[in-house]
Amino acid sequence: MTDYARFATAAREAVTAASIVCKEVQDNLDSIRKITKDDKSPVTIADYASQAVVAMVLRQKLGSDLKLVAEEHSEFLRDEDNAAILDATVAAAKTVWEDATDTKILEAIDLGASDTHHDHFWTLDPIDGTKGFLRNQQYAVALGYIENGTPTIGVMGCPNLPIDMSAPLDERDEHGCLYMAIQGDGVYETRCDDIHADTIRITRLDHFEEDEISVCGSVEAAHSNVSDTDRILEWIESEGHGSAGDPVRLDSQCKYAVVARGQADAYLRLPTRKDYVERIWDHAAGACIASESGAFVTDIHGRNLDFSQGRGLANNKGVICAPPRVHGLVLRAIKELGIGADDV
Ligand code: AMP
Ligand code: MG
Repeated sequence: MTDYARFATAAREAVTAASIVCKEVQDNLDSIRKITKDDKSPVTIADYASQAVVAMVLRQKLGSDLKLVAEEHSEFLRDEDNAAILDATVAAAKTVWEDATDTKILEAIDLGASDTHHDHFWTLDPIDGTKGFLRNQQYAVALGYIENGTPTIGVMGCPNLPIDMSAPLDERDEHGCLYMAIQGDGVYETRCDDIHADTIRITRLDHFEEDEISVCGSVEAAHSNVSDTDRILEWIESEGHGSAGDPVRLDSQCKYAVVARGQADAYLRLPTRKDYVERIWDHAAGACIASESGAFVTDIHGRNLDFSQGRGLANNKGVICAPPRVHGLVLRAIKELGIGADDV
């Protein structure tokens, strides 16, 4: 039997530590860029340090048979040409891992190289929303536990996301927030930079009663089809089911949290390319959290997200995440408009 409470506690500890590391790197963006002479290096460093720290904490708390499928690999850092990046990664990890060394960091990153041929495994995106990180906007440390193709634990650190829903979403918050969910147990919210902070169980408020649908989506136009989003919202309006404002744009799986906490009525991720397969670490934590808040999370054809197909969601196209009534409307619009109709 899975000890969900112990697993979720370890996951929160791992994600909190990694979020603190990410915040530290973000506080030093300019000095890191000066040393590495590369504008993108801070996110590379935070990405590797985050993965190393999550893997180290999970290994320490859950033992040596840890199965972790994480996005990054150590190959780049093992190349001597990238020694400055490795040094900076170790320095960043030391914020929470005092005796980190080159060897320990590389070994910890390699713990994330498990394969997906297990009944249960963790999956990690050490920094989801790298572009948001570089813009000082939203990004997430996203850790999910998958059992037989379904995420049963989701923990997501959102280091720049304000807990206060009246604060702007496109600015950096001092503390950030963290969401955690265990299947069947609801969603809990806390700060992402303090392991001792109280957790609060959140309940989703359905603003849709006001007949105004608020939708969120990617900042990057390549990640979700903007014109299909507009067509869906126009269809919903034209059928008299409520009006929709301009979609709120933010990077990363924070979008799932924004739906879970009732700040948006839907997260639409509509395919821009027929051949793109969503990655499991881009959705496991977020989908678990949003589902536990009462939202429905499916692909654009209403199919459950199937995490049993290796590293990609090969049986799915795009994602629709919304509370039941809005979810139903969006799926009807997709069908009526023939979006993705040529998917086999
Ligand atoms: P978001 O921040 O929601 O825009 O999503 C960021 C994620 O989009 C990254 O982690 C990538 O794995 C993923 N991604 C990359 N290319 C595409 C694409 N063509 N369609 C959808 N997602 C993509
Ligand atoms: Mg990602």
